[in-house]
Amino acid sequence: MPVNPSGFDADVIVVGLGAMGAAVTYQAQSMGLEVLGIDRHEPPHEFGSSHAETRISRLAVGEGPQYIPFVARAHELWHTIGDAVGETLFHQSGGYVITNTDGGNDDRWHDFVTATDNVAQLAGIPYTTLTAAEVRAAHPNLKLTNDMRAGHEPTGGVIMCERAVEAQLRLARQNGARIRVNETVAAVTPDDQGVVVETDQGSYRARDVVLATGAWMHDLASAHHSNQLSITRQAVFWFEAEDLDAFRVDRMPFVIWTGDTIDDYVGLFPVPPGATNGVKILGEQFSETTSPSEVNRTISDAEVAEFYETHVAPQIDGVTSRCIKRAVCLYTNTLDDHFLIEPDPRSNRITVMSPCSGHGFKHSPALGEAVAQRIATGASDLDLSPFGWGDTPA
Ligand SMILES: Cc1cc2nc3c(=O)[nH]c(=O)nc-3n(C[C@H](O)[C@H](O)[C@H](O)COP(=O)(O)OP(=O)(O)OC[C@H]3O[C@@H](n4cnc5c(N)ncnc54)[C@H](O)[C@@H]3O)c2cc1C
Repeated sequence: MPVNPSGFDADVIVVGLGAMGAAVTYQAQSMGLEVLGIDRHEPPHEFGSSHAETRISRLAVGEGPQYIPFVARAHELWHTIGDAVGETLFHQSGGYVITNTDGGNDDRWHDFVTATDNVAQLAGIPYTTLTAAEVRAAHPNLKLTNDMRAGHEPTGGVIMCERAVEAQLRLARQNGARIRVNETVAAVTPDDQGVVVETDQGSYRARDVVLATGAWMHDLASAHHSNQLSITRQAVFWFEAEDLDAFRVDRMPFVIWTGDTIDDYVGLFPVPPGATNGVKILGEQFSETTSPSEVNRTISDAEVAEFYETHVAPQIDGVTSRCIKRAVCLYTNTLDDHFLIEPDPRSNRITVMSPCSGHGFKHSPALGEAVAQRIATGASDLDLSPFGWGDTPA
């Protein structure tokens, strides 16, 4: 490993190269920093949080106005990165948020449709509120009852998630970043001027380190952070469509359907070119926590059948019970379901940036750019402070 003039192996070492780490690696290398990226697997892979073909993105982020600048910048970057690799990484299908009660009140985001309405209005995002009948008229496959209501954002869409990770790592490599895969970081220790990173294959030293290890964050983060994080298993299903064309990105928007409890959540992802020929549908669960080593990565036929009966059949027409693909994916959750991006208490030279509570992908290139700017110049164009806990964990 060549040593740069400052005596470091790199300016910055990025540990973990999923959505977050790939973005920082690409951005930091583009800013002229020497970057070494290390991953225990070979990204994009199916063991963490950034796989299963697609992710939803919307400018009207009902999770809170603090996210708006990041997703807005991310929408620009998906096009820049896509153009650089000659691929479409973002498909602008538009999207619905729907609630199945009078306002909805799930335990996680509460009245998510009203929150989305408010963010859209605040930021002047193109957005229309719709009755159940209006949604059914446009998309008869969505079985809204008359007490339901929806918002439609034409600027939303789906991101090709593995392609996006692969593209950023490819561009980073082309710009000179060194990427080491199938290498596990065992310890990250600050010294007087930098940080030492020990792996199962060697030891490296850099001025700055970014920890983007997702669901593995407990292995390397300080107790101050890791004590407040939980990992949850999420199951993803692709069901056979009666008429697949009705669910393609040019005809079907994504759907986020919330209800009375977290267990009522349903997400539907339209089918982009080159993806599995089925309709990707998922729920969310937060009651059972796990870890990357213990998680059950198998989805049984019984689990498929139960999901179809409780979540798909009552709400979506045109999708058969035949599951043609399934995947297990991990959320890394904070106590308040928001993000954690801030220096590690051991050193300002270590930035923790992965825990994104299951809604981070859409923001990832902009978060990567902001973290890289902070390392390169000491400040970022976009304000990362809403994602820091300071001295008190959330
Ligand atoms: C089912 C599901 C659906 C989702 N839907 C959406 C959505 O629609 N929209 C949205 O915006 N977000 C969504 N998200 C959330 C989003 O996908 C995640 O926030 C994001 O992918 C997290 O990326 P990450 O880089 O933090 O984690 P990961 O992609 O898991 O990357 C972590 C990396 O660290 C590596 N690593 C771990 N430990 C070590 C070590 N010791 N040494 C070296 N490498 C290590 C791992 O191998 C891995 O590659 C969803 C998540 C899931 C699971």
